[in-house]
Amino acid sequence: MIEIFNRIASTLKTLRKERGWSLDKTAQETGVSKAMLGQIERAESSPTIAILWKIASGFDVPFSLFVADEQRDYSTGQTKTIHPSEDKIKVFPLFPYDEKTKCEIFLIELLPGCEHISSPHKPGVIEHVIVAEGSMEVFLNDSWKPLKKGEGLRFCADQPHGYRNLSRKNSTIHDIIHYSM
Ligand code: MN
Repeated sequence: MIEIFNRIASTLKTLRKERGWSLDKTAQETGVSKAMLGQIERAESSPTIAILWKIASGFDVPFSLFVADEQRDYSTGQTKTIHPSEDKIKVFPLFPYDEKTKCEIFLIELLPGCEHISSPHKPGVIEHVIVAEGSMEVFLNDSWKPLKKGEGLRFCADQPHGYRNLSRKNSTIHDIIHYSM
């Protein structure tokens, strides 16, 4: 697990350097506090999925940039969890961001009682959520839309959106995120 925190730390440092963003500027763009950003960069603190997603959206980069292992072969999909300390949501980078398709594909497990609100991505980002197992709800346009196994929803992700599982069973979704970069 140390490995993943180091990767997150060095990715954040590299992005800041490339953009020439100070910690102040980065805090402004991502909505994550300067203190937290500093801790993440020094690999002293492990960001939650929600915070990591805020950082990715603030920089307008794919989420998988922080978590995909460039040494690993993802051609057949990869279902290793990236964040074991998160108790109710588990994100697996199935197919990390690909330049050709401009997509990254996640398998996300929502445990009973999970409610995850995602901050808006940059304009042009489109999400496709498809339920693979169980049932869940997607938050969109101020309301929760129930989805059963096999059902899906496509939406512009530059608005507040979220996922929750009010059932008593685990729910598994595929989340395909398409970027316009
Ligand atoms: Mn999202």
